[in-house]
Amino acid sequence: MKQIVLFGAPAAGKGTLAGKIKKILPQIPHISTGDILRENKKNETPLGLKAKEYMDSGKLVPDELVIDMVEDRLKRDDVKNYGYLLDGFPRTLSQAEKLEEIAPAEVVLVLDVPRQELLNRVLGRISCPECNAIYNKFSIPPKKEGICDICGAKLVHRSDDTEETMNKRIDTYEENAGPVIRFYEEKGLVKHVDGTRTMHLTEKEIKSFLEIV
Ligand code: ADP
Ligand code: ZN
Repeated sequence: MKQIVLFGAPAAGKGTLAGKIKKILPQIPHISTGDILRENKKNETPLGLKAKEYMDSGKLVPDELVIDMVEDRLKRDDVKNYGYLLDGFPRTLSQAEKLEEIAPAEVVLVLDVPRQELLNRVLGRISCPECNAIYNKFSIPPKKEGICDICGAKLVHRSDDTEETMNKRIDTYEENAGPVIRFYEEKGLVKHVDGTRTMHLTEKEIKSFLEIV
């Protein structure tokens, strides 16, 4: 049984780390509040309709709505039996306090990536419209600038983000996550993980920060 909370800025590599944790704890339910909210929005459920305006303007959905939603999800048997890997929750102190009441976190993983690296990852992303190969102008450039190594097509930018919007998204993450991470630091639950090497983290390292022997 493991109750794990995952923190990381946009493009920090939360998805990659979550995938690696799932390999070690295959039964653990991966619960992403962003995904659940998007699903509700798409299906126009009562929750989705209420959440829509906040999500579309990049604001946090009000605590009552998100807390009820998560509380429902955490009641299911898979969580009772295998714990959880929470992604995107808690985002506020009241959410963190509520989680303490329902099913307290046992470990809080914080993926650390320097801002410049986050910007490079997102702003440097280019891909091939023909064969879908992915490159990065800074870290994985094609052999010939702007041209796909595999099929020779002209590469296109993959992100709509500009440096300004990306900086704003990182600022918002830091503002929201900061107080919540401190809340968990006081409880001694925080483990910092070097997010510049998420891809190469070994099973042994992940087990050690999850304290699985
Ligand atoms: P992002 O990194 O773009 O914020 P998410 O997928 O985590 O992406 O969330 C998408 C949107 O869903 C957020 O912008 C916010 O409106 C809403 N959301 C997700 N989780 C929460 C939460 N814990 N509390 C409030 N709103 C949330
Ligand atoms: Zn190609």
